[in-house]
Amino acid sequence: MKVVKKIDELRNVIKQEKINGNKIGFVPTMGYLHDGHLSLIKKSKEDNDVTVCSIFVNPTQFGPGEDLDKYPRDIERDMKLLKENKCDILFYPDVKEMYPNGFYTKVTLSILTDKLCGKSRPGHFDGVATVVTKLINIVNPDSAYFGMKDYQQLLVIKRVVEDLNLDVNIVGCPIVRENDGLAMSSRNVYLTEKERESALSLSKSFKLVSQLIEKGIKNPQEIKQEVCKFIETHPFTKIDYVELVDIDTLENLNELKDKFLLALAVFVGKARLIDNKIFEIK
Ligand code: AMP
Repeated sequence: MKVVKKIDELRNVIKQEKINGNKIGFVPTMGYLHDGHLSLIKKSKEDNDVTVCSIFVNPTQFGPGEDLDKYPRDIERDMKLLKENKCDILFYPDVKEMYPNGFYTKVTLSILTDKLCGKSRPGHFDGVATVVTKLINIVNPDSAYFGMKDYQQLLVIKRVVEDLNLDVNIVGCPIVRENDGLAMSSRNVYLTEKERESALSLSKSFKLVSQLIEKGIKNPQEIKQEVCKFIETHPFTKIDYVELVDIDTLENLNELKDKFLLALAVFVGKARLIDNKIFEIK
């Protein structure tokens, strides 16, 4: 695996790959890799000739008081995992390489980002949209792979690509979970053993929603309240949001649709965990 830290060098490597007729797949990450990230690498490898993974803990998407400094990092372990999974190129820039002149030009959306995580993390999606636009311009991939775990992020990026005519195919990939249902996340390392048990309340609430719907409950507010009640019975939990929303616009539902997204953000101890599921009522 080639490890590249400089933008110019990466551009030259990619240019050569393209001259050789190779299709490029790109997986942007913040590192501390787990099987969720590796599923994106696997998909990219299936679809492309060359897979580029980036590891960059992007400071501009963290708000004041968030976990930028504490965000878990282990580049040696990540490189080992990437090599084992036959990633071709790792792009591992430092902050100076990505933001040599600060952060004065932003990609800001006037839809989607005022909801869910955007509401509780102001400026977060400006940081995400900007860094992903920069990374796509640097890597110039044919396709880029994102997890549906960050469902809102995926919609935001698809919108940016459409609105700014970025020449890349965005591929959304399913959420990878631990055996007990917990969505894999780099932030799961923050959880103590007891907190981890409570963290299962997020994925367990999906079953509760299915049961409520089977019982004929059609009021989104009522479903939301039941989910909140259920999560709150678990120690160490503090709900950021529980919402039933439209899968395209992320607007709150006034009445249940045949297809909707349940989106959750819950602090469990120090970890802010997110999870989601699309429900289809037959
Ligand atoms: P991160 O390193 O957390 O910024 O995540 C990098 C990419 O991996 C994003 O596209 C995430 O949506 C994706 N990802 C993170 N966790 C999972 C998971 N459990 N399953 C699938 N994709 C994931």
